[in-house]
Amino acid sequence: MKYVYGPVPSRRLGNSLGIDPIPSKTCNYQCIYCQLGKTTNFTNSRKKFFPKEEIIAEMEKAVKLNYNKFDYVTFVGSGEPTLYKDLDYLITKSKKISEKPICVITNGSLLYKKEVQDALINSDVVLPSLDAGDEKSFIKINRPHPSIEFEKMIQGLIDFRKKFRGEFWIEVMLMRGINDTKEELSKIKEKIDLIKPDRIDINVPIRPPVEKWVRIPEINVISVLNEIFGEFNNINYPEDGHFSIYSFDFDKEVISILERHPMRQDQIIKTFSCFGLNKNEINTKLKILQSKNKIKKFNYNDQIFWKLNVN
Ligand code: SF4
Repeated sequence: MKYVYGPVPSRRLGNSLGIDPIPSKTCNYQCIYCQLGKTTNFTNSRKKFFPKEEIIAEMEKAVKLNYNKFDYVTFVGSGEPTLYKDLDYLITKSKKISEKPICVITNGSLLYKKEVQDALINSDVVLPSLDAGDEKSFIKINRPHPSIEFEKMIQGLIDFRKKFRGEFWIEVMLMRGINDTKEELSKIKEKIDLIKPDRIDINVPIRPPVEKWVRIPEINVISVLNEIFGEFNNINYPEDGHFSIYSFDFDKEVISILERHPMRQDQIIKTFSCFGLNKNEINTKLKILQSKNKIKKFNYNDQIFWKLNVN
């Protein structure tokens, strides 16, 4: 399929049937943490990139094939989905094709536009991102199209939130030394207080970012977050047994987790597969650490566990 993918498991949305109406890396931002790579089509013009009928025809097919296998229909592009000019049509049609909630993952930049608000108003969940508390950080982190102004973007989020009856969840991507200081986080929180989302999700760049110098915050950011945000959801700490990681150094991270928490071998494989390592490579790395007496293996309830070798 060209426009539909999944269902894929999503930390926030259960199983999600993805609809992508945007050509690869077509975006009005060039975020330093983007996991999709460089924005190759840097534009702020809304266009009918593909025939809407083709997208809907694929969606009809996918909904039939995957009936009862997904929880949400999610518009999420290989770029910014609100740049698709007929998004209102796609959302309205989606509601007829599937009774599942419709969700839009967006950078939120165009919510100040009436036509974008009108398009999203019929969806059930809107998930905009907000990584900066002022214009300077916005330019540094999101590197927006010159026609996008920070305050106008924020006002769009505030205005849309007021009229939208669905769920509005803001996601903040935190990066070490960029927006994880008390000062930066306080500025972001001030804006979030004006927007009044239903929920705040905190994310860290666990997948390789476009800029190699972007790093995951130190673990002590959690206490700063608790102080400033109070209530927030950390989407890298899902309840299904995933463990968070804070750098791309396998040895350091596995030891750091095992220091606090023995892990099943399959949990380690699942957690560290985001490093791009396969099962055998992870097992080899564990054996090397074992041979250095750093960690040890044991069996419990017919399962293999690893823990720190403290003796
Ligand atoms: S808004 Fe999304 S797709 Fe666009 S550059 Fe940022 S992370 Fe990448």
